[in-house]
Amino acid sequence: MSWNTIVGQERAKHALKQTLLSGRIAHAYVFHGPDGVGKRAAAFALGKALQCEELRDGDACGVCGPCLKSQKGLHPDIHVWMPTTKDAPHTDIAPRLQALAENPYGTVDFQSRPSMSSEATSSNKQVFYSVDTINLEIRRALSFHRVEGKYRVGIFLDADQFRTEAANAFLKLLEEPGEKTVFILITNRIDHLLPTILSRCQQMRFDPLSVDEIAGALVEREHQDPTTASVLARMADGSLSRAMVLSGSEELPLVREDVMDFLRQSYLGRGDVIIPLVDAMSSRGREHTKFLLLICLGLLRDLMLIADANSPELIVNVDQADVLTKFVTNLSDARIPEMIEAVEQTSYLIERNVNVRLALISLSRVLAAAMRGDRNAKVTTSLA
Ligand SMILES: [Zn+2]
Repeated sequence: MSWNTIVGQERAKHALKQTLLSGRIAHAYVFHGPDGVGKRAAAFALGKALQCEELRDGDACGVCGPCLKSQKGLHPDIHVWMPTTKDAPHTDIAPRLQALAENPYGTVDFQSRPSMSSEATSSNKQVFYSVDTINLEIRRALSFHRVEGKYRVGIFLDADQFRTEAANAFLKLLEEPGEKTVFILITNRIDHLLPTILSRCQQMRFDPLSVDEIAGALVEREHQDPTTASVLARMADGSLSRAMVLSGSEELPLVREDVMDFLRQSYLGRGDVIIPLVDAMSSRGREHTKFLLLICLGLLRDLMLIADANSPELIVNVDQADVLTKFVTNLSDARIPEMIEAVEQTSYLIERNVNVRLALISLSRVLAAAMRGDRNAKVTTSLA
């Protein structure tokens, strides 16, 4: 009833079920792995199962009072927190949590979606857990007696967003656990958590989803037609959340056109065109740039399939086959694997907060060299 709402992740689901069956509930968990693969869905399912009055075979019954409240995101003993921007109005958090209760794969964080009243646009503003939030709000919520539930559950989204002072305050909370309190920390960057925090948590890894798992979920949940679902699933790089954003986006064709333009202009190498283009791309924020690079990777992988001519049926951008074939014919010297490596490396750097604009300018140079057949094109060397 609960676990089967989570797409894939059989290993994690099995482990959590066994935990519930044995009754040996850890005091704190870290669910880690890439974005959009089901960590939040699993945290909600665990919270719900912990509160369920009629747990059956390690699964919440789905019909008891606590289950109904958990499903609506209204259980008074399940608390969900997320990092916010400094000036985010407090009232802006509730609708995000509500949306998440309805669809745990939805995009609700302040960075990818500065406003809940519009679709994802992404912002460069930093988000974080403040010391005040921890010392006042979170401490208070977790130190009250349980209202009605069997456990007090605290779910922390993006739990890597603690600055030093906040991390230490949070550590104190972890160190003095209230009875029947369960912490669930969620992160895509487990290396950003303090070792002292990690050592107190049981770790559970969530892997990228398969193309089939994502495509199936898009057909079932988004009523997407199977062909489009399979295209989007290949683009989504293992993330159901990303696939859902793509599925609802009218922006995709425009972004793809931007990427083609970036490749074209990089090849021509005119600084007076490239710089304004990069400025326009980077002005839309880090998340948007990551999305753009993802689309770019999809196009480059298609180019490789066309160039190798061994499995054209695997092409993602089927509707662009003509343009892509022309590219391969015109640039027969292009070193596509190096281009892919450069884009992956740039994504990695942008994920780690390098300057987006500089990274794109550097990428443009490397792509130009690789398109001309230069064997030594590397992002790292030109960034140095
Ligand atoms: Zn129940």
